[in-house]
Amino acid sequence: MAIEGEQRPLRILFFPFLAPGHLIPTADMAALFAARGVRCTILTTPGNAAVIRSAVDRANDASRGALGALAIDIAVVPFPDVGLPPGVESGPALNSDADRDKFFQAVQLLREPFDRFLAENRTDAVVSDSFFDWSADAAAEHGVPRLGFLGTSLFARACSDCTVRHNPVEAAPEDPDAPVLLPGLPHRVEMRRSQMMEPKKRPEHWALLQRMNAADQRSYGEVFNSFHELEPDYLEHYTTTLGRRAWLVGPVALASKDVATRGADDDGLSPDAEACLRWLDTKPAGSVAYVSFGTLSRFSPPELRELARGLDLSGKNFVWVVRGADTEESEWMPDGFAELLARGERGLIIRGWAPQMLILNHAAVGGFVTHCGWNSTLEAVSAGVPMVTWPRYADQFYNEKLVVELLEVGVGVGSTDYASKLETRRVIGGDVVAEAIGRVMGAGEEAEAIRERARVLGEKARRAVEKGGSSYDDVGRLMDELMARRGLANV
Ligand code: UDP
Repeated sequence: MAIEGEQRPLRILFFPFLAPGHLIPTADMAALFAARGVRCTILTTPGNAAVIRSAVDRANDASRGALGALAIDIAVVPFPDVGLPPGVESGPALNSDADRDKFFQAVQLLREPFDRFLAENRTDAVVSDSFFDWSADAAAEHGVPRLGFLGTSLFARACSDCTVRHNPVEAAPEDPDAPVLLPGLPHRVEMRRSQMMEPKKRPEHWALLQRMNAADQRSYGEVFNSFHELEPDYLEHYTTTLGRRAWLVGPVALASKDVATRGADDDGLSPDAEACLRWLDTKPAGSVAYVSFGTLSRFSPPELRELARGLDLSGKNFVWVVRGADTEESEWMPDGFAELLARGERGLIIRGWAPQMLILNHAAVGGFVTHCGWNSTLEAVSAGVPMVTWPRYADQFYNEKLVVELLEVGVGVGSTDYASKLETRRVIGGDVVAEAIGRVMGAGEEAEAIRERARVLGEKARRAVEKGGSSYDDVGRLMDELMARRGLANV
């Protein structure tokens, strides 16, 4: 029985949270596992399936023959009816607190199709988004080991674990600029109070963080989109001090680095995006700042105006991804900016989906102005591109600390306010933005040292996923363990 069990490929169910920043790395991770002979299923809803369809098709084309069948399939289940308009199924489409509440009801209701899948399909492990904290118990009821995946850095996860344990915000003075020390971490990590989530102001969010942390702790382990060489002290802290089990399998984006449509929905790339790649070909190496803030961040018109001013003042070339319909140009474009764009020499705006991995890996790109979403951060790391950091909320302030203070591959614009996309924050001046861009992309020793460190880190990242690299080996170790576990279960 055990031998028969060992011959059958591993079957892993991936269950990503309903937001592009969770779906995209999950699809990339499934592609990595599929390339090692694992049968993968990704369970999600129709609108979210569209985000990962092209990545999955491509991974299947690459592995067809090796398995004699599709390596990855998407199990599409209806989005629960909670009164949201048709097609509104994920984070970026939510524009009010009421919609967000309904969305989280839907997230709870996904337990039924998740349970059904596990009841009807032989599954060796579940990689569940940490946001689905309830999936820990559901997987345990079916006897299936659960691996938590939140899609952030080990550093951010360690910081978050520390706040859940010690609630250092509550002990700090009320002053938004008060320093908050996060105790018990390998480095001295000090935040400003205004950069941290306030448990008292967001009790539901705080409760969710606690449930997520507890669910991941009682799971079989956790997988991280990271690699050993990037944050070794935090791997040690996580595993030895906190006693948690972690496999580092990233940067997973390297699985689909050459795919223009990665993450784009069924409509594909916008004409702006196609034009951008041709435009980059005409620019000197390292001369372009790429500016993008992921899929969820929104900038107010005054913030957009200052950012535009900053890009102009920086004197650098730029590609700027401007999202959504909330950006009526007349409300924010500073004088002369439309003309600057129209000349097409210094800058381009992309409206719609940008082929971010292709852009970051283009030789013309010399810096990335980013909100420090973990995917974007790691994509910049793996492309060897230094960052100008502009965090907004969630784990982004922690990721900024890692990039600027620990890895020293970026410079911050001085973002101080933890605020979600529906809230306002202090506006950062264009001159400050221009200065930060200059400190990363300009001449001078500091900029050169930052760029060199980013280049070296990029090489380490790429090596990690190659055969014999640390992430490649972690995938192998995890597969071996799951195989052995299945063998034992079958005896
Ligand atoms: N992304 C992209 N094109 C875009 C916007 C985003 O390819 O126009 C991808 C980006 O490469 C990353 C993901 O979407 O993989 C965004 O994840 P991240 O964690 O950076 O930010 P979030 O959107 O979750 O805040």
